[in-house]
Amino acid sequence: MIIDGKQISQSLKDAMKIEVDALAEQYGRRPCLMVIIVGDNPASRSYVRGKIKATEYCGFDGHLVELPEDVSEATLLAEINKLNNDPLVDGILVQLPLPKHISEDKVIAAISAEKDVDGFHPENVARLWLNQHCILPCTPKGIIELLDQAGVEMAGKKAVVIGRSNIVGKPVAKLLLDRNATVTIAHSRTKDLAAVCREADILVAAVGRAKMVTAEFVKPGAAVIDVGINRTEDGRLVGDVDYEAVLPVAGAITPVPGGVGPMTITMLMRNTIECFLNRMNNK
Ligand code: NAD
Repeated sequence: MIIDGKQISQSLKDAMKIEVDALAEQYGRRPCLMVIIVGDNPASRSYVRGKIKATEYCGFDGHLVELPEDVSEATLLAEINKLNNDPLVDGILVQLPLPKHISEDKVIAAISAEKDVDGFHPENVARLWLNQHCILPCTPKGIIELLDQAGVEMAGKKAVVIGRSNIVGKPVAKLLLDRNATVTIAHSRTKDLAAVCREADILVAAVGRAKMVTAEFVKPGAAVIDVGINRTEDGRLVGDVDYEAVLPVAGAITPVPGGVGPMTITMLMRNTIECFLNRMNNK
């Protein structure tokens, strides 16, 4: 079974569009997401375009704040502070990566935790690991949603996550654990990675290396979630999984493009609604 992230994402956005109209009626305003981009990195520009498009599609308020590549850290922090203090702003996102002269850690920590739609703020990360109410990071949240929508049982299953980054590997592992899977986190120092992965009922690859996961990594019938985003020499977008080789072995698989990627943006929309509701109801 191919897990069609594009289609699942579309139907979730359609439902949110209706929900947002109802929220506007009920609360007298729409959820508002502000996206800040620094500089002209083409990949960042493309991601941000997708986020703004989804924001408009779902009927949110908000817009893009564009700052030049040489903007000072102090100016960016002041801009974030302004949005933190704006009662009509529910979500703030600063597109990463940032130019080298700006500390990403400082910027992430500067965004008010209640408006941190990316779920990267240390307070939200801590809350995730403490099982407290928090804003979940979008890609991990989207992966769990994909597994749910595809009817993949997580409880009691063995899951292997390849990659231990703060934004994908570790939080995905935590969310799978919360769904009662038995989770192994594999990484660049894991010995006999293929054998470790072959144990998995659910295999999540979040590395950033094209065709790294071959058929020998996959237990027949396993669900394979490909988070990787890589460009081939001829400019095609591919994941970490050798898709053609793994497709006949896997029980379910996400394609790249059209799998985890669209779900990440859709979960960003979901988080914006959640931030809006938290703020409106805590007034
Ligand atoms: P990262 O570079 O921070 O982490 C990569 C991880 O892979 C590391 O923990 C490292 O230990 C592991 N790794 C590296 N080489 C390995 C090897 N040979 N064997 C086993 N493990 C190895 O990257 P990240 O930010 O976690 O992103 C991972 C991939 O997911 C990238 O391709 C990124 O572009 C993509 N990504 C996609 C989305 C999406 O929405 N689809 C979102 C975020 C990241």
